[in-house]
Amino acid sequence: MTKTTNLEPATKEQIRQYYHEEYNTKEIPEYITGNIHRREFAFDRIGRGPKDRYNQYTQTRHLEKAIKAKAPYAAYTSVALYDNPRKREGWTEAEMVFDVDAKDNPLRTCTCKQGEVCPQCLDDAKEITLKISDNIRELGYKDIHYVFSGRGYHIRIQDPELVKTDRNFRTQLVNYILGADTPELPEGLQHFTIPFGYPGIYTDWFKYTVNHLQKDKRYPGLNRKLKKDIIKRKQLVNNNHWGLIRGQITPPRYDKLVEMIAGINHHLCDTKVSIDTKRILRLPSTLHHKVSMKCMAIRNIETFDPMSKAVPKFVEEK
Ligand SMILES: [Zn+2]
Repeated sequence: MTKTTNLEPATKEQIRQYYHEEYNTKEIPEYITGNIHRREFAFDRIGRGPKDRYNQYTQTRHLEKAIKAKAPYAAYTSVALYDNPRKREGWTEAEMVFDVDAKDNPLRTCTCKQGEVCPQCLDDAKEITLKISDNIRELGYKDIHYVFSGRGYHIRIQDPELVKTDRNFRTQLVNYILGADTPELPEGLQHFTIPFGYPGIYTDWFKYTVNHLQKDKRYPGLNRKLKKDIIKRKQLVNNNHWGLIRGQITPPRYDKLVEMIAGINHHLCDTKVSIDTKRILRLPSTLHHKVSMKCMAIRNIETFDPMSKAVPKFVEEK
Protein backbone atom coordinates (compact mmCIF):
# COMPACT_ATOMS: atom_id res chain seq x y z
CA MET A 1 0.00 0.00 0.00
CA THR A 2 1.30 3.43 -0.84
CA LYS A 3 0.29 6.40 1.21
CA THR A 4 -3.24 7.58 0.63
CA THR A 5 -3.50 10.42 -1.82
CA ASN A 6 -6.24 12.97 -1.71
CA LEU A 7 -6.87 12.68 -5.42
CA GLU A 8 -6.07 16.24 -6.42
CA PRO A 9 -5.82 17.49 -10.02
CA ALA A 10 -2.41 17.29 -11.69
CA THR A 11 -0.66 20.44 -12.91
CA LYS A 12 0.39 20.76 -16.55
CA GLU A 13 3.97 20.24 -15.39
CA GLN A 14 3.05 16.98 -13.61
CA ILE A 15 1.18 15.77 -16.69
CA ARG A 16 4.32 16.42 -18.78
CA GLN A 17 6.41 14.60 -16.19
CA TYR A 18 4.06 11.62 -16.33
CA TYR A 19 4.25 11.27 -20.12
CA HIS A 20 7.99 11.90 -20.12
CA GLU A 21 9.04 9.54 -17.32
CA GLU A 22 6.35 7.03 -16.66
CA TYR A 23 4.07 6.56 -19.62
CA ASN A 24 4.45 3.16 -21.28
CA THR A 25 2.59 2.17 -24.44
CA LYS A 26 3.06 -1.51 -23.53
CA GLU A 27 0.36 -0.98 -20.91
CA ILE A 28 -2.27 -0.51 -23.61
CA PRO A 29 -4.21 -3.80 -23.78
CA GLU A 30 -3.87 -6.06 -26.78
CA TYR A 31 -7.54 -5.71 -27.64
CA ILE A 32 -6.77 -2.09 -28.57
CA THR A 33 -3.29 -2.40 -30.11
CA GLY A 34 -4.46 -5.44 -32.11
CA ASN A 35 -6.93 -3.35 -34.14
CA ILE A 36 -5.46 0.09 -33.55
CA HIS A 37 -5.85 1.18 -37.19
CA ARG A 38 -9.63 0.75 -36.95
CA ARG A 39 -10.19 2.94 -33.90
CA GLU A 40 -10.66 6.66 -33.53
CA PHE A 41 -8.35 8.40 -31.04
CA ALA A 42 -9.13 11.68 -29.32
CA PHE A 43 -7.26 14.06 -27.03
CA ASP A 44 -8.02 16.82 -24.61
CA ARG A 45 -5.13 19.19 -25.19
CA ILE A 46 -6.12 22.25 -23.19
CA GLY A 47 -8.25 20.82 -20.39
CA ARG A 48 -11.60 21.61 -22.01
CA GLY A 49 -12.66 18.20 -23.27
CA PRO A 50 -11.62 15.93 -26.14
CA LYS A 51 -11.74 18.41 -29.03
CA ASP A 52 -8.80 16.92 -30.94
CA ARG A 53 -10.68 14.05 -32.59
CA TYR A 54 -10.76 11.79 -35.65
CA ASN A 55 -7.14 10.67 -35.20
CA GLN A 56 -6.06 7.36 -36.66
CA TYR A 57 -2.82 5.46 -36.00
CA THR A 58 -1.76 2.50 -38.04
CA GLN A 59 0.88 1.43 -35.54
CA THR A 60 1.27 1.57 -31.79
CA ARG A 61 4.56 3.43 -32.02
CA HIS A 62 2.86 6.25 -33.92
CA LEU A 63 0.30 6.55 -31.15
CA GLU A 64 3.08 6.54 -28.58
CA LYS A 65 4.89 9.34 -30.37
CA ALA A 66 1.69 11.41 -30.55
CA ILE A 67 0.83 10.91 -26.89
CA LYS A 68 4.31 11.82 -25.71
CA ALA A 69 4.39 14.92 -27.91
CA LYS A 70 0.92 16.09 -26.91
CA ALA A 71 1.17 15.23 -23.17
CA PRO A 72 -2.62 15.61 -23.19
CA TYR A 73 -4.96 16.37 -20.31
CA ALA A 74 -6.78 13.23 -21.38
CA ALA A 75 -6.59 10.62 -24.15
CA TYR A 76 -9.41 8.49 -25.50
CA THR A 77 -10.08 5.74 -27.97
CA SER A 78 -13.32 4.68 -29.62
CA VAL A 79 -15.15 1.58 -28.44
CA ALA A 80 -16.12 1.22 -32.10
CA LEU A 81 -14.15 -0.18 -35.01
CA TYR A 82 -14.45 1.59 -38.35
CA ASP A 83 -13.25 1.00 -41.88
CA ASN A 84 -12.35 4.69 -41.86
CA PRO A 85 -11.88 6.04 -38.32
CA ARG A 86 -10.72 9.44 -39.62
CA LYS A 87 -14.27 10.09 -40.75
CA ARG A 88 -15.98 7.68 -38.37
CA GLU A 89 -17.29 5.89 -41.45
CA GLY A 90 -17.81 2.20 -42.02
CA TRP A 91 -18.79 1.26 -38.46
CA THR A 92 -18.53 -2.50 -38.08
CA GLU A 93 -18.80 -3.15 -34.34
CA ALA A 94 -18.45 -1.65 -30.85
CA GLU A 95 -17.56 -3.02 -27.44
CA MET A 96 -20.36 -2.71 -24.91
CA VAL A 97 -19.28 -0.71 -21.90
CA PHE A 98 -20.46 -0.24 -18.33
CA ASP A 99 -18.98 2.95 -16.92
CA VAL A 100 -19.13 3.10 -13.11
CA ASP A 101 -17.88 6.51 -11.99
CA ALA A 102 -17.26 6.75 -8.23
CA LYS A 103 -18.32 10.38 -8.11
CA ASP A 104 -21.74 9.70 -9.65
CA ASN A 105 -22.68 6.63 -7.61
CA PRO A 106 -25.90 7.58 -5.78
CA LEU A 107 -25.22 4.86 -3.18
CA ARG A 108 -21.69 5.79 -2.18
CA THR A 109 -21.09 5.52 1.55
CA CYS A 110 -18.45 8.23 2.06
CA THR A 111 -18.78 11.91 2.88
CA CYS A 112 -17.35 13.23 -0.41
CA LYS A 113 -18.92 16.40 -1.72
CA GLN A 114 -20.29 16.56 -5.26
CA GLY A 115 -17.53 15.96 -7.79
CA GLU A 116 -15.03 14.61 -5.23
CA VAL A 117 -13.77 11.05 -4.91
CA CYS A 118 -11.89 9.20 -2.16
CA PRO A 119 -10.57 5.64 -1.66
CA GLN A 120 -13.84 4.66 0.00
CA CYS A 121 -16.09 5.64 -2.89
CA LEU A 122 -13.63 3.99 -5.28
CA ASP A 123 -14.26 0.84 -3.21
CA ASP A 124 -18.02 1.32 -3.51
CA ALA A 125 -17.62 1.68 -7.27
CA LYS A 126 -15.69 -1.57 -7.41
CA GLU A 127 -18.42 -3.37 -5.48
CA ILE A 128 -21.01 -2.22 -8.03
CA THR A 129 -18.67 -3.17 -10.88
CA LEU A 130 -18.41 -6.72 -9.51
CA LYS A 131 -22.18 -7.01 -9.16
CA ILE A 132 -22.74 -5.80 -12.73
CA SER A 133 -20.09 -8.22 -13.90
CA ASP A 134 -21.82 -11.17 -12.15
CA ASN A 135 -25.04 -10.33 -13.96
CA ILE A 136 -23.25 -10.06 -17.31
CA ARG A 137 -21.72 -13.52 -16.80
CA GLU A 138 -25.05 -14.93 -15.78
CA LEU A 139 -26.31 -14.04 -19.27
CA GLY A 140 -23.51 -16.10 -20.76
CA TYR A 141 -21.13 -13.33 -21.89
CA LYS A 142 -17.51 -14.27 -21.30
CA ASP A 143 -15.18 -11.87 -23.09
CA ILE A 144 -15.07 -9.28 -20.32
CA HIS A 145 -12.26 -6.80 -19.64
CA TYR A 146 -11.83 -4.33 -16.81
CA VAL A 147 -10.18 -0.93 -16.78
CA PHE A 148 -9.63 1.38 -13.84
CA SER A 149 -10.66 4.72 -15.31
CA GLY A 150 -8.86 6.81 -12.67
CA ARG A 151 -12.14 7.67 -11.00
CA GLY A 152 -14.05 4.42 -11.29
CA TYR A 153 -14.29 1.35 -13.48
CA HIS A 154 -15.02 0.44 -17.07
CA ILE A 155 -16.33 -3.01 -17.95
CA ARG A 156 -15.69 -3.68 -21.65
CA ILE A 157 -17.54 -6.64 -23.13
CA GLN A 158 -16.36 -7.99 -26.47
CA ASP A 159 -18.36 -11.16 -27.11
CA PRO A 160 -18.92 -11.41 -30.89
CA GLU A 161 -22.72 -11.61 -30.62
CA LEU A 162 -22.79 -8.44 -28.51
CA VAL A 163 -20.44 -6.11 -30.42
CA LYS A 164 -22.77 -5.99 -33.42
CA THR A 165 -25.86 -4.96 -31.44
CA ASP A 166 -27.55 -1.56 -31.72
CA ARG A 167 -28.65 1.11 -29.23
CA ASN A 168 -32.09 -0.43 -28.68
CA PHE A 169 -30.70 -3.77 -27.68
CA ARG A 170 -28.08 -2.15 -25.43
CA THR A 171 -30.68 0.03 -23.73
CA GLN A 172 -32.69 -3.05 -22.78
CA LEU A 173 -29.61 -4.97 -21.71
CA VAL A 174 -28.24 -2.22 -19.48
CA ASN A 175 -31.59 -1.78 -17.70
CA TYR A 176 -31.83 -5.52 -17.19
CA ILE A 177 -28.35 -5.82 -15.75
CA LEU A 178 -28.74 -2.84 -13.41
CA GLY A 179 -32.21 -3.76 -12.14
CA ALA A 180 -33.30 -0.39 -13.55
CA ASP A 181 -36.72 -1.50 -14.87
CA THR A 182 -39.82 -2.07 -12.77
CA PRO A 183 -40.46 -5.81 -13.08
CA GLU A 184 -43.52 -6.53 -15.22
CA LEU A 185 -45.29 -9.47 -13.64
CA PRO A 186 -48.48 -11.45 -14.13
CA GLU A 187 -51.35 -10.53 -11.82
CA GLY A 188 -50.78 -11.71 -8.28
CA LEU A 189 -47.03 -12.25 -8.58
CA GLN A 190 -44.32 -10.10 -7.03
CA HIS A 191 -40.63 -9.71 -7.92
CA PHE A 192 -39.70 -11.58 -4.73
CA THR A 193 -41.87 -14.59 -5.55
CA ILE A 194 -39.82 -15.38 -8.69
CA PRO A 195 -36.20 -16.12 -7.76
CA PHE A 196 -34.81 -16.30 -11.34
CA GLY A 197 -34.62 -14.21 -14.52
CA TYR A 198 -35.22 -10.48 -14.28
CA PRO A 199 -37.28 -10.60 -11.04
CA GLY A 200 -34.33 -12.43 -9.42
CA ILE A 201 -31.84 -9.79 -10.62
CA TYR A 202 -34.16 -7.01 -9.51
CA THR A 203 -34.64 -8.49 -6.02
CA ASP A 204 -30.87 -8.79 -5.59
CA TRP A 205 -30.34 -5.13 -6.53
CA PHE A 206 -33.28 -4.11 -4.34
CA LYS A 207 -31.47 -5.62 -1.34
CA TYR A 208 -28.18 -3.98 -2.30
CA THR A 209 -29.75 -0.59 -2.80
CA VAL A 210 -31.79 -0.67 0.40
CA ASN A 211 -28.70 -1.72 2.37
CA HIS A 212 -26.81 1.32 1.06
CA LEU A 213 -29.48 3.94 1.72
CA GLN A 214 -28.55 6.45 4.40
CA LYS A 215 -31.00 8.31 6.61
CA ASP A 216 -29.65 11.78 5.99
CA LYS A 217 -29.01 11.51 2.25
CA ARG A 218 -31.37 12.27 -0.62
CA TYR A 219 -31.82 9.94 -3.57
CA PRO A 220 -33.10 10.71 -7.05
CA GLY A 221 -36.84 10.01 -7.13
CA LEU A 222 -37.14 8.41 -3.68
CA ASN A 223 -39.56 10.16 -1.36
CA ARG A 224 -38.46 10.80 2.19
CA LYS A 225 -41.19 8.90 4.02
CA LEU A 226 -40.76 5.75 1.93
CA LYS A 227 -37.00 5.96 2.40
CA LYS A 228 -37.46 6.10 6.18
CA ASP A 229 -39.96 3.23 6.13
CA ILE A 230 -37.74 0.89 4.13
CA ILE A 231 -34.52 1.74 6.02
CA LYS A 232 -36.37 0.79 9.21
CA ARG A 233 -37.10 -2.61 7.65
CA LYS A 234 -33.59 -3.34 6.33
CA GLN A 235 -33.35 -6.43 8.53
CA LEU A 236 -36.61 -7.80 7.16
CA VAL A 237 -35.30 -7.24 3.63
CA ASN A 238 -32.10 -9.14 4.39
CA ASN A 239 -34.10 -12.00 5.89
CA ASN A 240 -36.46 -12.11 2.89
CA HIS A 241 -39.62 -11.34 4.86
CA TRP A 242 -41.08 -9.75 1.75
CA GLY A 243 -44.75 -10.38 2.45
CA LEU A 244 -44.40 -8.74 5.84
CA ILE A 245 -42.57 -5.71 4.43
CA ARG A 246 -45.13 -5.21 1.68
CA GLY A 247 -47.99 -5.53 4.17
CA GLN A 248 -46.47 -3.07 6.65
CA ILE A 249 -45.58 -0.47 4.02
CA THR A 250 -48.95 -1.20 2.34
CA PRO A 251 -49.10 -2.78 -1.13
CA PRO A 252 -49.71 0.42 -3.16
CA ARG A 253 -46.80 2.20 -1.46
CA TYR A 254 -44.61 -0.88 -1.84
CA ASP A 255 -45.32 -0.89 -5.59
CA LYS A 256 -44.22 2.74 -5.71
CA LEU A 257 -41.06 1.86 -3.82
CA VAL A 258 -40.25 -0.86 -6.37
CA GLU A 259 -40.40 1.80 -9.11
CA MET A 260 -38.30 4.24 -7.10
CA ILE A 261 -35.56 1.70 -6.36
CA ALA A 262 -35.41 0.89 -10.10
CA GLY A 263 -35.02 4.64 -10.68
CA ILE A 264 -32.01 4.81 -8.31
CA ASN A 265 -30.45 1.72 -9.92
CA HIS A 266 -30.57 3.48 -13.26
CA HIS A 267 -27.85 5.83 -11.95
CA LEU A 268 -25.41 3.12 -10.81
CA CYS A 269 -23.53 3.50 -14.07
CA ASP A 270 -23.56 6.02 -16.89
CA THR A 271 -26.15 4.36 -19.12
CA LYS A 272 -25.48 6.87 -21.93
CA VAL A 273 -22.02 5.34 -22.32
CA SER A 274 -23.45 1.81 -22.52
CA ILE A 275 -25.87 2.55 -25.33
CA ASP A 276 -23.60 4.79 -27.42
CA THR A 277 -22.00 2.65 -30.13
CA LYS A 278 -19.66 5.48 -31.20
CA ARG A 279 -18.46 6.45 -27.74
CA ILE A 280 -14.86 7.35 -26.97
CA LEU A 281 -13.45 6.00 -23.72
CA ARG A 282 -10.38 6.98 -21.71
CA LEU A 283 -7.33 5.13 -23.02
CA PRO A 284 -5.76 2.68 -20.53
CA SER A 285 -2.13 3.69 -19.71
CA THR A 286 -2.92 7.44 -19.71
CA LEU A 287 -3.39 9.86 -16.84
CA HIS A 288 -6.71 11.01 -15.39
CA HIS A 289 -5.48 14.50 -14.63
CA LYS A 290 -8.49 15.58 -12.57
CA VAL A 291 -7.62 13.08 -9.81
CA SER A 292 -3.94 12.34 -10.62
CA MET A 293 -4.56 8.63 -11.07
CA LYS A 294 -3.59 6.29 -13.88
CA CYS A 295 -6.24 4.85 -16.13
CA MET A 296 -5.14 1.25 -16.49
CA ALA A 297 -6.11 -2.22 -17.59
CA ILE A 298 -6.84 -4.55 -14.67
CA ARG A 299 -5.58 -8.11 -14.60
CA ASN A 300 -7.51 -9.32 -11.58
CA ILE A 301 -10.51 -7.22 -10.62
CA GLU A 302 -11.07 -9.14 -7.37
CA THR A 303 -7.71 -8.14 -5.90
CA PHE A 304 -7.17 -4.82 -7.69
CA ASP A 305 -6.45 -1.91 -5.36
CA PRO A 306 -6.19 1.45 -7.15
CA MET A 307 -4.40 3.07 -4.22
CA SER A 308 -1.48 0.68 -4.61
CA LYS A 309 -1.56 0.19 -8.38
CA ALA A 310 -2.81 3.35 -10.07
CA VAL A 311 -0.99 6.14 -8.22
CA PRO A 312 1.53 7.81 -10.55
CA LYS A 313 5.11 8.40 -9.39
CA PHE A 314 4.76 12.16 -9.20
CA VAL A 315 2.10 11.71 -6.50
CA GLU A 316 4.10 9.13 -4.54
CA GLU A 317 7.11 11.43 -4.58
CA LYS A 318 5.18 14.37 -3.15
ZN1 LIG B 1 -15.75 9.43 -1.47
